[in-house]
Parts: sequence; structure tokens; C-alpha cells
Amino acid sequence: MFIKKYPIIVLLFLILTSLILMRQVQFIMDSEKMNVLMISIDALRADHVGIYGYNKNTTPNIDNFARNSYIFRNAYTMVPMTHPSLFTFMTGRTPFESRIISNTDIGPSYNNKTLASILSEYGYDTSAFVANEAVLSQGFNTFKFQLFKSYYIDEQGRELYIQNKESDYEAFMHRAIQSIGQNKNKPFFTWIHLMDNHAPYYPEEELRCKFNLKYCVETKKSSAELENLRAEYQMCQATVPKERVELMKALYDGGISSADTIVGKILEELRIKGVDKKTIVIIYADHGEGFDHNYYFSHREVLYNSAIQIPLIIKDPRKVISKRIDREVQNADVLPSILDLLNIPYERNSYTGRSFASSFYPFPVSLVPGKQDKFHYFVNSSWTKFAISNGRYKYIYSLPQSCLNNNQIEELYDIKEDRNESHNLLGKNAILAKELKQALLKYLARYNLPPSINEPSKSLNSTPKSNTEDSIRLEEMKSMGY
Ligand SMILES: [Zn+2]
Repeated sequence: MFIKKYPIIVLLFLILTSLILMRQVQFIMDSEKMNVLMISIDALRADHVGIYGYNKNTTPNIDNFARNSYIFRNAYTMVPMTHPSLFTFMTGRTPFESRIISNTDIGPSYNNKTLASILSEYGYDTSAFVANEAVLSQGFNTFKFQLFKSYYIDEQGRELYIQNKESDYEAFMHRAIQSIGQNKNKPFFTWIHLMDNHAPYYPEEELRCKFNLKYCVETKKSSAELENLRAEYQMCQATVPKERVELMKALYDGGISSADTIVGKILEELRIKGVDKKTIVIIYADHGEGFDHNYYFSHREVLYNSAIQIPLIIKDPRKVISKRIDREVQNADVLPSILDLLNIPYERNSYTGRSFASSFYPFPVSLVPGKQDKFHYFVNSSWTKFAISNGRYKYIYSLPQSCLNNNQIEELYDIKEDRNESHNLLGKNAILAKELKQALLKYLARYNLPPSINEPSKSLNSTPKSNTEDSIRLEEMKSMGY
């Protein structure tokens, strides 16, 4: 009856359905050929990247790349520390689930599938070049790591090199770039991790005062001097003169510029090898870096945006577009999103992270909502600070033994209007703060958190050590303050 009465509507419906099916088939066919390249830049604050609004030209290559990409303007790491953050990226497991919040927590990574192990099962050639530690090697056919300028400062302030110097890092990155797409018989998943702008903020000479000529004289200090200075600033409640902050920022920006140059070379290699049209590229950071609130120059212990907000830029050559996405996303969301973009099936409820692939393809990916939660949660690297965000407001709860900003145990910020989190709204908006606190405590209770004040954080880590090599590397890393 309906067909006879409304033949045109039925015809249109059939045409539309066919088009959708054709696009789905095309998407699946294309997915089978897509490579994945992940480039992580350690300690890169989102707000020091041009495309995120920085007023200095630190990242011309990344900005150029972003012109045809999806730019996540509100991307966060759930924990502002290298290994825990990268672990979350690579496994889709939140730090609350994995109990991995510090660099010395190896944890149950070997009981979880990593993105590399999943893609390896799907026939990918998986390789990683990590200028850091060998802590996420699971699933990679090739895994190379090399400590970045791996020295420590001894008691006399001397730089003692463990392995490498700057030239070694350059050679390592050169090898990483050359390796891209070498195996022509398989799609590839390559992960390259850069460390150029990480402390001790000591880029090559021409970059040291590139972003602040006023401090050129100052930047001639040795890296040992600068590192000692930075260590002082890491003390809780240290008062840091403004010019010192600017000096450190200028050096840090020089490091970002160095990383950006390498990113440019990596992207150029994709073009030279002719695989840029077949490669999904993800540029991101594991966490940010301090420089504000005048008392903490690092990332691991605080939950301000400076430490947890990260750049996240994704280019999918099947859909060349420049799109800014405002929805709040986290590092735990990346793994399920990549699987969706590659059309690799998985049990949606097995990940707490929420796929954001629907931002790319509204209909070909059949997204069944996983566990939905309107909030996002964060923890520092010692179980002493916890935060919750509803996308507009962020509430931070600190245990008394943690480093406190102006003795504030509880903080509430309007992160849309006050990106630097300089106005604690706790007194002005006590009702909202209470609501957020209750939601936070309810979430933490699921994981038996927070621990009692006197409980050492180590006791939370009931996870086994995994293998000897990683344990040794982690001890080295710990001794170096990573
Ligand atoms: Zn890091």
C-alpha cells in the first residue's frame, strides 16, 4: 500500500540506503589499507602550539599539518605523567582501572592488549621508536628506544651521560624516519616518541634564545645550571621571579621548535614514500608542563590545564578537512577511536574510553554507546590529587600532604573563562563544588580511592613487575627524575 501511495518516497529511501551501504563498503575496503602513524611529543603543552593559539611560531610544521586535520581543542590526559599517560593511550585503560599512575608502575600491561598487539593480529607491521623507556614494547615487531640526552646531574652539578648525547638522538630519529613504510607487503603501525622540549630545556644553541632575545645571555648557562635552577622551582611554594619563568619558557619553546622540525621531516617522509594518502596520522602529547601558579615546574603532581591539557590532532586522508572539535576527549578515548577508524571490531563495553570516531564518520561506523559518563576524571602521579570536569567547570581535591597552591585543599575553576585557573570559585559557587565533589568521590569509591592519608602510594600498586629489562630501565629512569 505504502509503496503504491508514495513511490517517490520509497525510491528516495532505497537510493539513500544504497548510498549509505556503498559508502560503508568503500569505508571498509579503505580501512583495510590504512596505515597508522602516531607521533607523541613529550611534555608539549597545548597552549604552546600555534594552532592552539600560541602567539609564537614554535610549531609551523604541526600547524600546517593541522590545516587538513581534526583538531581536538579540549583533549586531556587523565594522568600527567609519561608512562601512565602513554599506557592509557596504548591500552585504552584508565589509570583508575590500571593503577598505573607513575613511571615506576609497570603494572598489568602484559595482561592487556595494546594497540600494537591488536594491530599486529590484524596483519600490521608494528614498530616503535621511543626516545624514552622500553616500557610499552608489547605488540611491536620492532621496538627501539633510546634515552634522550640521558644524563643526570651529580652532587657537584656535573652532567654525567649514561648513554647518549644530542647527536645520538638525531641519529636515532633519522633511523625512525627512514623506517616508515619499509615493509611494503603489510600495512604499518608506527609510533615515534619525541623528547626535544622535555626538561632540562636545553635545545641546540641556535634555539635557546630564538623565542626571547632578551634572555640570550641567560640561556648561555650550562644545562646543569639550568637544571638545578628548575629543580629549585619544583619545590612546593617556591617563589619564582617572572623573568626566570620567561627564561625557562623561552628554552622550552626552543625545544618545541626542535620537535616540530622532526615532525616536519616525518611527514615529508610519508610523502616521499608515497604513503601519505594511506596513513592516518595522530600527533599528540603525553602531558603538558608547569610554568604557572608560581610553584611547580613540572607536570606530574598537579592537575591544572598546563599539565593535563594536550594537543591532539588527527589527519585521516580519506576525509581531508580542517575541523575544530570542542568536545572534551581524553587519552583513554584514542584506542577505541582508532579501532573504529580502521573498522576493527571490538567489545565496546570493554573500554571505559569513548570512541570519538563519530566526529569523523557520522554513519559508516556503527557506534553502540559504551559506558557513558558526563564527567571526566583525573589523578596525579602520587594519588594525592583528584579532579573532575564537566566540560565547563573543574573541581580539584587535594589530600593535605600534597603540594598545595595557597593552601587550597579544594579548588573550583571555570575552565572555559579562566583557562589559567587563577580564580578559585569555591567560595562563590559552593553548591556546584559540592555536587562535583560528590560525583568525584562516588567515582573514586568504585576504585577504593582515595587512599587514607598515611597510606603510601606504593601499596596501591598490587600489580606484578613484568620483565627484567623493563624493571632495569625503570630504575634508571627513576634515578634520572623522569
Ligand atoms: Zn612525559
